[in-house]
Parts: sequence; structure tokens; C-alpha cells
Amino acid sequence: MFYSDGILKRSDLLRRDGVMHGFSTRLGGVSEHPYTLEMNLAFGREDPDETVLRNAEIFARAVSGGGYGAESAVCASQIHSTRVRYVTEADRGDGYLIRPSAGEPGDGFYTDRPGVLLTVRIADCVPILLAGEREDGSPVIAAVHAGWRGTVGGIAGEAVRLLVEAGVMLNTVRAAVGPHIGECCFTVREDFRDAVTAARGPDFASRHIKETDGALHADLTGMDLEILREAGVPREHIDVSPDCTACLNGIYHSHRRTAGRRGALGAGIVITGKDRDK
Ligand SMILES: [Zn+2]
Repeated sequence: MFYSDGILKRSDLLRRDGVMHGFSTRLGGVSEHPYTLEMNLAFGREDPDETVLRNAEIFARAVSGGGYGAESAVCASQIHSTRVRYVTEADRGDGYLIRPSAGEPGDGFYTDRPGVLLTVRIADCVPILLAGEREDGSPVIAAVHAGWRGTVGGIAGEAVRLLVEAGVMLNTVRAAVGPHIGECCFTVREDFRDAVTAARGPDFASRHIKETDGALHADLTGMDLEILREAGVPREHIDVSPDCTACLNGIYHSHRRTAGRRGALGAGIVITGKDRDK
């Protein structure tokens, strides 16, 4: 179950010793522009960089229970790919402090190192946070940004595969699918259905793209659930936020709802360790 915790949403499925995570809302930041009010984590929109950096600091501290700030966060220049890369302490600050507007291209990260706050930015796309354990009980975590291209490309399954490759026992993997645009608001055109059909076949497309009231609606939630289950994660180990970012534009940033005049939400996860930088 997802629940509200201050300015964040969290999933009780990911709660465990040594790992902290959270999904941002529009609450708790210092952005003053109407499009980005008040928590915006994207550079290059309406906010000065200093404002985004202050938001990143607030977000990182909230996610980690105060333990880590923006200098511990890693963020990517997201390109709607299925690239999920391994990051360590050496990557901390990328996307926020080292290369503020970008970060290395890709759409996900995983790590087994404490104090590396994996962050993805979204505004309708699907944020997925994952955690699992090795046989010795040590955690390995992942964060992915799944737009429809990443979703259909199978980025969620790629993250699970990499966790297992890193020594995680598959039956310990838990995934939290954060707030994103729901089937209610994600209307698509025929060429979208064609692209999904080309990528994953007509059965997949017909399971997740349906005609309602004369419009095609795509169900990213259903797609990502199917892909996670295909990767070996049972349904009871997957938590899905019921919130649609477009329906709830007062609480979340939505690209679709605002025709792109918006800020960005963040999803973050970190292994907490002894090297807290508080
Ligand atoms: Zn909706």
C-alpha cells in the first residue's frame, strides 16, 4: 500500500531496515512559478537552478530521513531508453551538482553501495523503485524511469534482471510503481498502438490499449505489471500507486494535463549506511 508521509508518498512494501525511498509530490519545495509550484526537480523549466537545487536538497533529505542531501543523489539525462547502469559513490552529484542540467544519458540505476541516492524524474511517466537482497541479507536497489517507450522496451524487467545478476535472490525483489498517468487520462493515437504492437505483439497491445468512448486509452500500469511479473516478480511483491498524475494535477506534475508547462516529480531510493553525510 502507498501512504502519505509528509511531502512524500511511500510504499509499505519497500519498507525494510537499511533502505529508504520516496516519491515526491508538488508539496514541500520552494518553487514559486505557477507551473512548477512548489516542488520541481527539473532544471531548465521555469525555475532558476538554485531553486531546483534547494528542492533537490529538500527531496533528498525527506527520502533519506535526513541522512543524505542532493550531493548524494544521482540523476540521469533521461532518454526513454532501457539503459540501467550501475552507480557508486563516484557518481554522486551527477545530474544535480556535477552536471546540473543533465547527468549521463540513461533511464535507470542500480547500486549496492550505501549513500548513493538513485533518483529518476517524472511527470506522467512511470517511476519504479526496486529493492532485493543477496543471500547474506545485504540490499541491492534500483530506480527506473519508464515512459511508454521504456515500458514497452522492458526497462522494468531489465532492472530485475540486473539485480539478480548482481546476486539478488529473485524471491526477495520488491517493486513500487509510483504515481503516473492512469489509463483514465492516457489517450493515444493509432500510431501508438502500432508501435506497441510492433514492439511486443498484438496480444500485449490489445491487453493494454482499449477503446473507451471513441478514444484509445493505454494502460502503462498494466504493461509494467505484466513486464515485472514476466521477469519473475510475483504480484504480491509489486505495489502500485492508485494515483493518476493528470487527474490529480494539484498534487502531482503532469505533462499531459498542462501541455508541457510543468515541473518534474522525483522518485528516490537509497541504502542507508554508516557514512551518512548529515
Ligand atoms: Zn487520470
